[in-house]
Amino acid sequence: MPDQTATAIVTGHSRGLGAAIAAELLARGARVLGLARRGNPALAEAYPEALAEVALDLADPAALAEWLGGDRLRLHLTGAGPVLLVNNAGMVEPIGPAGTLDPAAIARAVALNVTAPLMLADTLIAATTGAPDRRVLHVSSGAARNAYPGWSLYCATKAALDHHARAVAEDKRPGLRIESLAPGVIDTDMQAAIRATTEAQFTMRERFVGLKESGGLSSPEDCARRLVAHLTGPAFGASPVTDLRDFG
Ligand code: NAP
Repeated sequence: MPDQTATAIVTGHSRGLGAAIAAELLARGARVLGLARRGNPALAEAYPEALAEVALDLADPAALAEWLGGDRLRLHLTGAGPVLLVNNAGMVEPIGPAGTLDPAAIARAVALNVTAPLMLADTLIAATTGAPDRRVLHVSSGAARNAYPGWSLYCATKAALDHHARAVAEDKRPGLRIESLAPGVIDTDMQAAIRATTEAQFTMRERFVGLKESGGLSSPEDCARRLVAHLTGPAFGASPVTDLRDFG
């Protein structure tokens, strides 16, 4: 893919892995539309022309549907060459054993981790009909493939992304590649939130404390560099469910 001309949409570009993915794409010459509740002032200052930002609560499906019904996304895609959608925004909460979770928190987690990525993917696929190279990346997790106590919401929502990618791949839409990718364990606010849980909520908490203390977390920048190389490379979409750690 000639990534100099790529047009990208990145959710959760304000911090963590999404900020690093947006930075990597911008450094490679892509035009990026970032969607998050907050902006990314450092990137906006560094790339005033190439970065566009929209403040949106992606856990609010009605607000997202209204935004998708407008023309901002279509304008961003007008005249686009290769198109990339990175469904990165996500949350690990609510954490705790079944029967202890707040129903409203369950609804927000499903809305952010599943509903929004699926709405964005479908709208983007429709809006890019006829485009020869359009790629959808769901940022999944090892939790989609292994069950962890206290993480039933996170495991279930990430598994939904994996299966969505598998099924969409079966649709064989022209020019479309889709992949649900586990990025590894990354030193972001999400890891801090995991370490801030109690043993009662998450019995595996100590494992994540140990990863931080032993330097076992990837930096967002290193992860994003490898992720974007894969996203824009020839092997992207060859398998709908992948793990970045398998790509070296
Ligand atoms: P993070 O540091 O918590 O950042 C989350 C990003 O999502 C922020 O940019 C945030 O922006 C955005 N976001 C959260 N709630 C939102 C909402 N309601 N509406 C719009 N945007 C929202 O998380 P991260 O660690 O970078 O994680 C990024 C992705 O990687 C997630 O999908 C996560 O599940 C996955 N992942 C992470 C790890 C890890 O070890 N960190 C491991 C496996 C998978 P605003 O707050 O500005 O809205």
